[in-house]
Amino acid sequence: MIRRARPAVDFHEMKRIALLGATGSIGRQAIEVVKSHPELELVAAASGSQPIDGLAPQTQVGGDLTELLERAQPDVVLNAVVGFAGLPATLWALERGVTLALANKESLIAAGELALAARERGGGLLLPVDSEHSAAFQCLEGRAGETIESLALTGSGGPFRGRTREELEDVTPEEALAHPTWRMGPKITVDSATLANKGLELIEAHFLFGLEYERIEVVLQPTSIVHALVRFRDGAALAHLGYPDMRVPISFALTYPERAATPVAPLDFSQGLVLEFEPPDLETFPLLALARRAGELGGTYPCAFNAANEVAVAAFLAGRLPFLGIAATVEDTLAEIDGSPARDLADLLEADAAARSLAERGLPVA
Ligand code: NAD
Ligand code: MG
Repeated sequence: MIRRARPAVDFHEMKRIALLGATGSIGRQAIEVVKSHPELELVAAASGSQPIDGLAPQTQVGGDLTELLERAQPDVVLNAVVGFAGLPATLWALERGVTLALANKESLIAAGELALAARERGGGLLLPVDSEHSAAFQCLEGRAGETIESLALTGSGGPFRGRTREELEDVTPEEALAHPTWRMGPKITVDSATLANKGLELIEAHFLFGLEYERIEVVLQPTSIVHALVRFRDGAALAHLGYPDMRVPISFALTYPERAATPVAPLDFSQGLVLEFEPPDLETFPLLALARRAGELGGTYPCAFNAANEVAVAAFLAGRLPFLGIAATVEDTLAEIDGSPARDLADLLEADAAARSLAERGLPVA
């Protein structure tokens, strides 16, 4: 049965949520948001390997998550799985017009045009949960395309902002995992330290908002108060501000378009508030420029960028690869793949697997 999203949801109507990645950083915060709103009902939950019995009427650990979605027929899928493993669930929701609250950026980046085509066919809502994209969505909502000049995605710069390449040679997973402003799962935390996360977010923004890459800029704002800024053709710019707390974008997506209350404090100026911006250091953090290049090349380059990065981050966390080896692995992989567009899911799975095996081959022998 094909379910279509309604254009607007009454706040007092129940929303049946399927939460994928329920044991993760986003998953746990999503459970808190769901519990605080009687209109939100958790009907299904999934994790990769940890037990979640009793968390929801229907649960699943590992396996093909679309089986759980088929059984549960939710109104909203919150995809908070980490990595390419989230792809089938993303496509399932987009294809059926079931509202997709998307934290799992990797699936949209890898699938690219295939995901957009599925969204077109399904006709449902795609609501970003990534904080910068939730912020940009809010700044862009209802604006005519021709009035938009550019989008600035902000990033904290991660734990190694200001360091030189030499100073990054020997950094450990433990140091990379000490993020200055956000508490997140290990993969995205390492991506934040290499700036691969901002690179992935650049591609994510391109697909979400249909903006050309030259209209998307990355700027560092070390305290993570400004989440995104949109410039318009009349010289005005709209920014989205708030303390760094993922419950805000999670709640925004789950209660859209009602913008329900959260326990997060409003911005406080009583002690003063200084906002500083600086350009990212593209020499020291090459993954940002590599992601931009992969995005501009299009085809399966973004899929390969993501796949090689996943392999390299896992190797770094396992102590098999030095920090600077992450960017080198991705660069070498991108230089070797053919990158032609995926016509269907089988092509995409093949591109992902090919990039993974190239990346693995380049790793130091364990
Ligand atoms: P995490 O590592 O804390 O949690 C990942 C979740 O995915 C866990 O529940 C795990 O069991 C599940 N999972 C992993 N592999 C799976 C598989 N093969 N099948 C089913 N489930 C699987 O990660 P996180 O930090 O919560 O991030 C989740 C996603 O949200 C990522 O795509 C990340 O980029 C994105 N995101 C996270 C944050 C954040 O603050 N944590 C912010 C923005 C975006
Ligand atoms: Mg983000």
